[in-house]
Amino acid sequence: MKAMILEEIGSMEYSKTPLKFADLPIPEPGRKELLIRVSVCGVCHTELDEIEGRTPPRLPVVLGHQVVGRVEAAGPGTSSFQTGDRVGVGWIYSACGTCKFCRGGEENLCPDFRATGRDANGGYAQYMSVPEDFAYRIPPAFSDAEAAPLLCAGAIGYRSLRLTGLKDGQNLGLTGFGASAHLVLKLARHRFPNSRFFVFARSEKERTFAQELGAAWAGDPSDNSPEKLHCIIDTTPAWKPILEALKNLEPGGRLVINAIRKEEGDKEALRQLDYPLHLWMEKEIKSVANVARRDVLEFMDLAAQISIKPEVQEFPLEEANQALAELKGKKVRGAKVLKIG
Ligand SMILES: [Zn+2]
Ligand SMILES: [Zn+2]
Repeated sequence: MKAMILEEIGSMEYSKTPLKFADLPIPEPGRKELLIRVSVCGVCHTELDEIEGRTPPRLPVVLGHQVVGRVEAAGPGTSSFQTGDRVGVGWIYSACGTCKFCRGGEENLCPDFRATGRDANGGYAQYMSVPEDFAYRIPPAFSDAEAAPLLCAGAIGYRSLRLTGLKDGQNLGLTGFGASAHLVLKLARHRFPNSRFFVFARSEKERTFAQELGAAWAGDPSDNSPEKLHCIIDTTPAWKPILEALKNLEPGGRLVINAIRKEEGDKEALRQLDYPLHLWMEKEIKSVANVARRDVLEFMDLAAQISIKPEVQEFPLEEANQALAELKGKKVRGAKVLKIG
C-alpha cells in the first residue's frame, strides 16, 4: 500500500520534506481490530509537534489521526461493525480499559493512552488497523472530507469548551484562530446563544474570518479585550499569548490551554508574569489532554445536528509534505485533508 512515513525527528526549518513515500504491506487486523481502507486523513498541527520531536512518535511511523474510511476486514472477536461500514478514527488509538481513568470515562488520561499516528500507525496511508472500540460511525450529514477535521480539531475543541465550564451569557475568548478554534466558535454560538465571543489572532485574515463567523470583537493577542472574559481557550503554540490572555480574564476566570505542547521559542515571556495582573483573584489555568471517546461521539452528533461543516482544502497523499509546510507557514484558513482513496 502507498504510505507517507516519518523516519526521523527534525526541524522543518531544515527539511521541507520530512515524510518519505513508501510501499508498505497492508496491516493485518488483530483481535478486536478493524482494517480500514482510508478515504481521507486530516492534517493536524500535532503532526508538526511529532515531526519536530515535541511529542515524539515511535519510528518509523505513519502519521495521521483524523481518519475516515471504510471497514475492509474485521479481525477475530469484533462485533460492532461490518465490512463496508464508514468509520472514523481520532487521536485516541487505545487505552487500557481497566484503570480508574478508563473506568470513569476519562480514558484520555490513561497511563497506557496510545495516540493514532504516534504510538501506532495512522492514516497517511491507504490502509490502517484500529481497535474497534476506538472507531466511530460517521453521521451521514458529512462527506468524508468534511468529517475528517471534526475528528480531532472538532472533538478536542468540544472537550476544551466543556472544560471551560462556560454558562450561557458569559463571555468567551479564543486565542488563535485555526481549525479547532473556528469549530469551537460555531459550536459555542449554538450552545451559548446569549454569550459574546472575543477572538485574538495575529493575522488580519483570521480576525476577519472570526467576525464573519459571528465574533463580537476580534483583535491582536496583545490587545485588551473591550470586556473582561469569563474564560479563554488558547490554541496557539506560544507562551506570550498565555500572559496576554490572563490579563483579560475576569475574577474567577479560567484559561484553558488546548495545545499538546508549547514551542520553546518565546518561553522567556513567562518571566513577565505579574501575579496581581495575571493570576490574583482566583484565576485558573487548565490544560486539555487528548480526547475521550465521549468527546468524539458527542461532538460528531452535535456537529451533524447544527450542520457544522469545516472548510476543507484537499491534497493528494503524495503532497503531504506540502500540506504540512503550509500549516507550518500558518497559511491556514479552514482545515487541510489528504485525499487518499
Ligand atoms: Zn489533531
Ligand atoms: Zn486506562
